[in-house]
Amino acid sequence: METDALKELHGLDLVARRMSRVSAILQWDQETYLPPAAVEERADQLADIEGIAHERATDPRIGHLLEKLGSTTSFPFGDESLPRLERDFLRAMRRDYDRRTKLPHDFVVSKARAEGLSQAVWVTARKSNDFALFAPHLRAMVGYAKKRAEYWGFAERQYDGLIDEYEPGMNENRLAALFGPLSFGLTSLLGKITLRPQPDSAFLLRTYPIVAQESFCDSVMNALGYDRRRGRLDRSAHPFTTSLGSDDVRITTRYDSTNMFSGLFSVIHETGHALYELGFDSSIRGTHLADGASMGIHESQSRLWENVIGRSRAFWNGMFPSLKIAFPDSLRDVDTELFYRAVNVVKPSLIRVEADEVTYSLHVILRFNLERKLFSGELDVDDLPSAWRSGMRSLLGVENETDADGVLQDVHWSMGAFGYFPSYALGNLYGAQFWNALRLDVPDAAEHVEAGDFSVLSSWLHEKIHCLGRSVQPEDLVRSVCGESLSISPFLDYLEAKYSELYDF
Ligand code: ZN
Repeated sequence: METDALKELHGLDLVARRMSRVSAILQWDQETYLPPAAVEERADQLADIEGIAHERATDPRIGHLLEKLGSTTSFPFGDESLPRLERDFLRAMRRDYDRRTKLPHDFVVSKARAEGLSQAVWVTARKSNDFALFAPHLRAMVGYAKKRAEYWGFAERQYDGLIDEYEPGMNENRLAALFGPLSFGLTSLLGKITLRPQPDSAFLLRTYPIVAQESFCDSVMNALGYDRRRGRLDRSAHPFTTSLGSDDVRITTRYDSTNMFSGLFSVIHETGHALYELGFDSSIRGTHLADGASMGIHESQSRLWENVIGRSRAFWNGMFPSLKIAFPDSLRDVDTELFYRAVNVVKPSLIRVEADEVTYSLHVILRFNLERKLFSGELDVDDLPSAWRSGMRSLLGVENETDADGVLQDVHWSMGAFGYFPSYALGNLYGAQFWNALRLDVPDAAEHVEAGDFSVLSSWLHEKIHCLGRSVQPEDLVRSVCGESLSISPFLDYLEAKYSELYDF
């Protein structure tokens, strides 16, 4: 009886996931190869497919089966006699089913339309540095987000509902308790660094032919263990990773001939996401559990590979000789040490996505502080540009002249994705904790990295984190892998050790 219900539920889940994968393929194509004249037609195709995917995912039979199996909103795991993995499956199914079905159809349709318009206006507003043009749309996005949180049962603390969407179990107060001391630790470290001389990094502005960048990125991806039979690398305006199936996880990057780092580190970052998506255990393959535990955990994987490993001395001790062969002219007078120092320059800047390891989380904390105030009513949309400037001044000591370099720089708010930004900083924190745990088990990790053998590291990450997918919740995952709860100390200690050596203080 229960077995039949479970089987039926798995069947419905499979069909719903297939539909959303089809939609993802259309989106991937839109970002990579779609001819410009086909944009409008593609928008219609996507709207139709997404409508079908939504119908499948909110099929009332899913609700009936969940109930039959004992899974309710307050007790999502269902019948205690079921195997552990099935109970986690029910928990994940119940969470998403509730979140989707609690939003009335009319609300979903009008929100989707407003989001499309808001994004289009944001593109224009950013280009023309015109916040006033975007403000009414941003106000509408805040309104929809508040309403959404209310429908989800967070009428009192709407921002909590939005945070929980991306980081299950997290809330505003816990984030504030982490980000307060994190911000203090980072600004004091930054203070010490800015007193020290900067390394010579002028060689970074030389020309790095894109063909050579492409083939170097290719070799790095292969070295990191990205299986080309199960994915591919293409170009897009903004780098991303997308899962089009259990054996089809693709990444994209962009290249700039005068900025080699932009393409290379994006590739390493996205490869980190892809290794996670490709690493789900066969027992959860294709199911609702074949997903990251949270956005913060996902980001820990990409940022761990990009920064902790990809910007380490060991990594470049191993990789620099082949980089020099790839760019013999531009790197003719550069040695490993100079290169290592140049990829780790710390300098407060205006743009989050270009920020270094030390200042990056401060950009995130600025956005978190503003979002809190937006949702508590302490701040109005019209106040954002000036609040942004004063936040930049106090956190990073720099101030944007234009709103395009300030409040208009990120796409997230234009899509109504409030509560998402904290994931990036959480990724840094989780990443440092995982890295400490990894090095306890693999004390010679740096030697493996230097030798260009990443298999020991990726096997460890696979076994401890990737294979579990969404069957484990973020807090439980950190506790079981690291033997401690989420904490800022490992990340701050990691930065302090690395940068006190680099900047000699
Ligand atoms: Zn990422």
